[in-house]
Amino acid sequence: MIERIILAEPRGFCAGVIRAIDAVEEALLLHGAPIYVRRQIVHNPFVVADLERKGAVFVEEADEVPAGAHLIFSAHGVAPSVRILAAARNLRVVDATCPLVTKVHLEAVRYAREGFSIVLVGHDGHDEVLGTLGEAPDRIVLVGTLAEAEAVAFPDPTRVAVITQTTLSVDDTREILSTLKRRFPHMVTPTRSDICFATQNRQDAVKLLVGRVDVVIVLGAENSSNSQRLREVAEAAGCPAYLIASVNDLDAAWLQGARSVGITSGASTPESLVEQVYVYFKDQGVHEVTTVRAVEENIRFVLPKELDAGSLADMTS
Ligand code: SF4
Repeated sequence: MIERIILAEPRGFCAGVIRAIDAVEEALLLHGAPIYVRRQIVHNPFVVADLERKGAVFVEEADEVPAGAHLIFSAHGVAPSVRILAAARNLRVVDATCPLVTKVHLEAVRYAREGFSIVLVGHDGHDEVLGTLGEAPDRIVLVGTLAEAEAVAFPDPTRVAVITQTTLSVDDTREILSTLKRRFPHMVTPTRSDICFATQNRQDAVKLLVGRVDVVIVLGAENSSNSQRLREVAEAAGCPAYLIASVNDLDAAWLQGARSVGITSGASTPESLVEQVYVYFKDQGVHEVTTVRAVEENIRFVLPKELDAGSLADMTS
C-alpha cells in the first residue's frame, strides 16, 4: 500500500525544450499553419501530438517539405548537410537547436579545424549524435561504452579531443572519460562539461529520491535519452525504477510491497503527465506528498533569432 509520494525537483521541461516548443508555437502564430518540423521537436509523442493539433507538420527530412515553406530544426540539432538541403529547397528555416547542443557542434568544428581526432561520447543513432557527427564525419569517432573507450585508436594519440552528447549519465561518462584520459594523456577536453545543466540537475534530484523511496517512476518517452538515464541512475543506486510514457503504463505489480514512490520526469516530458500519475496515487488514498530539490533551476533561453529579431540565445542565469 503506497503511503507517500516524493516528487523530484527539478524535473520535466528544460530551457532548451521550452524554447523549441515555443519556437513552433510562435512560428504558427507568425506565419500560420502549416509549419514543418524536421523530426520530433523534442523526444515526446504527447508534445508532438499537441503541436500537430495546432498545425505543425512533422517530417523526417527537409526534402519532404514544399519549396519555400517554413521548416523548424528540432532541439537536437542537425548536421550541416541538412542545412544545405534546406537551403537548396529555399526553405525558411527556424533553428530551434538547443544552444547547449550548438556549443558541442562548435567544439567539434574547432577541434577538427585544429587537426584533432575527436571522440564523441554518445549513443549511436540518437538525433543529437547524428547532427554532431555530421560536423566533421572524417574526424569524429563515436564511443558509447567503456569497452569502446578501451579499443578506440588514432594515428596520432597525442592529438585527440573529446566531446560528449548533452544528455548522458554523468557517472557513466566520468568513467568513460577517465578511461580515455588514461589511454590518451594529452587528450583535450572542453573547459565546461558538454553534459547540460538540465541533465545534471535531474540526475542529482533522482539521487536524492533514492534511499527515501521504494520505487522510482520516471515519466518520459522511450527514445528520450535523458529520461532513460534517470531510470538508470535510480537503478544504479539500488532502487527499482520504471520509465513510463504516461499513467496508462503504470503496472500495479511494480508497487507491490512498496510504501513510498518517487516521481520524476525527463526534460522533454510535459508536467501534465506527472500530474496524471499524482492524481492516480491520490485516488488510491495517498495524501502525503513531499518534494526533494537538488537545485533551483531558473535558466531560460530566448527564442531562435529567426523569431526574435536580432537576439541570440542567452543564458540569464
Ligand atoms: Fe538543451 Fe539540455 Fe534541454 Fe537538451 S536537455 S534541450 S541540451 S538544456
